Amino acid sequence: DVRVRFAPSPTGYVHIGSLRTALYNYLYAKQNNGSYIIRIEDTDQTRLVEDAISGMLKSMAWAGVENDEGPYMTAEEEIVEKGAYGPYVQSDRLPIYKKHADELIENGNAYYCFCSKERLDAVREQQRSEGKTPKYDGHCRHLTQEEIKTKLEAGEPHVVRLKLPENREIKFVDAIKGEVTVNTNDLDDQVLMKTDGFPTYHLAVVIDDHYMKISHVVRGDEWLISTPKHVYTYEAFGWEAPQFVHLPVILSQSKKKLSKREGDVAVEDFRKKGYLPEALVNYIALVGWSPEDGQEILSMADLIEKFSFERVSKSSGVFDVDKLNWVNNQYIRNYDLEALTKLCMPYFVEAGFVSSESDAEIEWLQKIVNVLRERLNRLDEISQYHALFMDDNIVLEDDEAAEMIALEHVPEMLKVLAAKIEALESDITAADVKQLLKAIQKEMGVKGKGLFMPVRVAVTGQVHGPDIAEVIEIIGSHRVLKRINYTLA
Ligand code: GLU
Repeated sequence: DVRVRFAPSPTGYVHIGSLRTALYNYLYAKQNNGSYIIRIEDTDQTRLVEDAISGMLKSMAWAGVENDEGPYMTAEEEIVEKGAYGPYVQSDRLPIYKKHADELIENGNAYYCFCSKERLDAVREQQRSEGKTPKYDGHCRHLTQEEIKTKLEAGEPHVVRLKLPENREIKFVDAIKGEVTVNTNDLDDQVLMKTDGFPTYHLAVVIDDHYMKISHVVRGDEWLISTPKHVYTYEAFGWEAPQFVHLPVILSQSKKKLSKREGDVAVEDFRKKGYLPEALVNYIALVGWSPEDGQEILSMADLIEKFSFERVSKSSGVFDVDKLNWVNNQYIRNYDLEALTKLCMPYFVEAGFVSSESDAEIEWLQKIVNVLRERLNRLDEISQYHALFMDDNIVLEDDEAAEMIALEHVPEMLKVLAAKIEALESDITAADVKQLLKAIQKEMGVKGKGLFMPVRVAVTGQVHGPDIAEVIEIIGSHRVLKRINYTLA
């Protein structure tokens, strides 16, 4: 059975790179009728963030990457767990880790270490000054049973360390990196239990992946260097290690690690800017992976069908905002209009098109969405069109616009247009606009640019913009007349 997991630490948000890791896990699980599990790795108690888990679960639910097991949020926003292999939050599993650390000590694969921070610092300092890579010097490996007993009874603070054999090759095969071999002489005796009684990530991850029956560990390749220690730990317990799949990191356009410093990296930030979840998921799947057929717009179903680890690139992917924008625009263009308008609501309210998300103006807003959608890369760009639809005191945008209005025939032409609009029996429609302009063309002999441009400029102040007939219908007869008069004055 394929059982995979996403194992975030509760930082309060989902990094866009973690979304990709989670997504690849999810896709692989779904493709193989397996299970996708979320496990919360909160063994570092100094890094706890309140409400962190709920924030992460919300982002994952928004993205449509939902777990079969582990914590999830109910409709009442309560966090509960599902699945038969819980608890799924590491701080709820402390006795399991303790029991297994004791077992390793008993069978000689781990030992108590009583070294103080001062001693460890001094050792490291010494090693550095000798040009060596700092490494625990094994001081407590050789304590006698008697010494250990005395120290424990005296309540001396201690950790538990993994006892690596000397000069042994540890080998494993990574699905992306290939065969990895490391000599234990180049590894540190990893701390497994900390002085506070919490396990380190390295102990907890092995125990949990084993008991949660994880078949494939799919994670960022920053963990690749720790994997030999994990492989040895599996061996020490007499367990079979899962398959490893280490994903290359995602770099920013300046080829640095994608970090907060270079802009937003949280999934929540992308949601706020008006990226559609389908588009963000589609795009992030393509950073460092592509389907064989080169298809670029892929639904979740397409991704599940086409995903494979073999096609994950060995080098790091680059996060390309322009490409993300392009993908998002493709989704915006083709989205169901009613649903898209709903998604746009918060942006309409924020930009001041409407005062609240009431249904009253839905139809009107739908028309705006429809005329703008092909130009929107993000839904928050709606705010850029506030003046176009809301402000009747037209400001000529540039010289080109001013020139159009200054053409000799324009005042007369606009007066004729205004009279024709006033004569309409009902509020002007896009079809009316086309008809009126045709009539003016016939009656006054103006056509092409000399006809359309001044009308566009008189109504919007700009020489460019969305379909003018549609825009005029959206603004309505009354306000269009106001605008024409304003420009003529
Ligand atoms: N808790 C680790 C992280 O935050 C997960 C590493 C793993 O998947 O093993 O990245």
